[in-house]
Amino acid sequence: MMKNYDVLIIGGGPAAISACRVFGSSPRKMSVAVIRPEQFSMIYCAMPYAIEGVVTVEQTFKEDTLVTGNGAELIRDAVAEVDFAKNEVATLMGERYHYRKLIIATGANPVVPNLPGADLNGIMTFKTGDDLIRIRNLVEGGLQEAVVVGAGAIGIELAQSLQARGVAVSLVDTEDHVLPNLVDREMIKEAEELLVQKGIKLELHERVVALNGTQEGWVAEVVLAGGKKICFREPGKGLVVFCVGMRANTGLFKDTGLALGRNGILVNAGMETNLPGVYAVGDCAEFVSGITGKIAEGKLATNAVLMGKVAAKRILGQPAEFTGFYNGAVTKVYDLRIAGTGLTEKAAAANGYVPVAGYGQTTTRFPIIPGARKVKVKLIADRNSRRVLGGQVVGGECVAERIDLITFTIQKNLLLEDLAGLSYSAQPYQTFFPAGNAIVMAAEDALKAFSVNIANTRRQC
Ligand SMILES: Cc1cc2nc3c(=O)[nH]c(=O)nc-3n(C[C@H](O)[C@H](O)[C@H](O)COP(=O)(O)OP(=O)(O)OC[C@H]3O[C@@H](n4cnc5c(N)ncnc54)[C@H](O)[C@@H]3O)c2cc1C
Repeated sequence: MMKNYDVLIIGGGPAAISACRVFGSSPRKMSVAVIRPEQFSMIYCAMPYAIEGVVTVEQTFKEDTLVTGNGAELIRDAVAEVDFAKNEVATLMGERYHYRKLIIATGANPVVPNLPGADLNGIMTFKTGDDLIRIRNLVEGGLQEAVVVGAGAIGIELAQSLQARGVAVSLVDTEDHVLPNLVDREMIKEAEELLVQKGIKLELHERVVALNGTQEGWVAEVVLAGGKKICFREPGKGLVVFCVGMRANTGLFKDTGLALGRNGILVNAGMETNLPGVYAVGDCAEFVSGITGKIAEGKLATNAVLMGKVAAKRILGQPAEFTGFYNGAVTKVYDLRIAGTGLTEKAAAANGYVPVAGYGQTTTRFPIIPGARKVKVKLIADRNSRRVLGGQVVGGECVAERIDLITFTIQKNLLLEDLAGLSYSAQPYQTFFPAGNAIVMAAEDALKAFSVNIANTRRQC
């Protein structure tokens, strides 16, 4: 007899797991099942560090109890077809399951541009556990050279992990600086210098246009738009990894009646699709920026978790809404921490704002305390409304907490003067100097662009 579930979840990533957590902690009991093909769900964020050897590959596997410990059944299989009219899914292994509510959490697949030579051996992406094991095996087998295409957080972290294992790495990006979606040009100079010092060759403002191979079909050269060729010293022994973005994994739903946008499955703030009882969450769903209200990229585990929770709460009859992508994110370049949130100054201008920027620079601890490191904060605000649109923090430590505070400011539609009037803590080992909080300094600096002195006056208006 066909098994029947109150809730069937397709996918085993953070979006699915966070939905399971909500069902598991609810007093209202429902029969929930998760279908995913992998033996293990991955801690994707930790994958670069398994190449570097900081953690083992096995440590990047998530425990199945994240699903089963929350009372959900785990089905290791893949959905091959969904019959939305009958509320049924058919799987690759030939099973059929009936559901009352369906949560689609199929994630996204990495993009490989359609270039001449893109099907050569030695060309990869970096998303799955299999990708990790393959790259790790190549490194263990003495990989000498690699080209990482895409200098976003995934590309940057992969490049460093390969370099740490003695691989000669070139990092290519079409933009004129690394981490272009996270921070503006002037905030990233020190990080780029560090990458270069460590021996990573930066090929910025460059585009890969073709890949040439050996007679045996292994990649041998990477051809750039400017005419330069990155040639592997030992053709047939190099690796090219494309980290140029992800595309929503929605192939299963083409021509099924499920409404799809350019960036994924269309959902409302309750994560409901156009079909009754069907929800979509995480990287497979298209959603808007919480700042601009326009369709935006937001393929982050942190967004997936929030979306998964909203869908589960709605199914349980609880009020919940996803308010949009703010994209607070953090990465590292060796021992320098780099964080960004909201819109960069460039993105703010591209979205029609007239951006105003302010900077604050100080040390992560009181300057007299051992271990104090430089830290720089940039705030971006809208000249018309003084609403905070974005922030960037680059420094030696504790940047994540600071970027999260700025994200919250943006989420709550606060203004520069709200941040200028921030009430904060201070202690020599843990914070900025009392008289020099870099976030407050950046807000005060940005406020200089306004002729009227509005700092701390908002509440009197
Ligand atoms: C190397 C790397 C590092 C990252 N680092 C960070 C970071 O530091 N911080 C951060 O916030 N984000 C990070 N991300 C992004 C983050 O991992 C994703 O945004 C997140 O995993 C999306 O979660 P999801 O649940 O929507 O989809 P996914 O995690 O992609 O999960 C999709 C699931 O659906 C399953 N599936 C697909 N098709 C089917 C089918 N037909 N039937 C059954 N199951 C199916 C898949 O097998 C998988 O289990 C990183 C990503 C990578 C690749």
